[in-house]
Amino acid sequence: MSDCIFCGIAAGSVPANLVRRDDDVVAFRDINPQAPTHILVIPAEHVDSAAELTPAHDHLWARLLHVAQSIAEDEGMEPEGYRLVVNVGRNGGQTVDHLHVHLLGGRQMTWPPG
Ligand code: AMP
Repeated sequence: MSDCIFCGIAAGSVPANLVRRDDDVVAFRDINPQAPTHILVIPAEHVDSAAELTPAHDHLWARLLHVAQSIAEDEGMEPEGYRLVVNVGRNGGQTVDHLHVHLLGGRQMTWPPG
């Protein structure tokens, strides 16, 4: 999608603080971090949100989670733990319409979320 900022980051045309990149998945530091470590893990291909996932995306969805897990280890979030968040749609708090997994760590998380 030409007007999608995360597609721009995935394509390399929008600058970002990249953590990982391969053909399927890109990860970069959130521009407005909500924790000492706050990284977004996205598919390189455009998917609007988790609400748009189909069985055809099963492999991609699993890759997003595995990359998030691997980055969490690299960033020293284990064994203390971390939080993965996927906001879906307006009520879910999604502000960028390109599927992304928030990886948050480095502090104690609270529950319930706001
Ligand atoms: P969400 O509210 O779940 O859609 O999350 C979108 C996230 O993207 C927010 O945490 C923003 O701070 C982050 N964000 C928006 N634009 C950029 C950008 N250009 N680079 C890095 N993070 C961004």
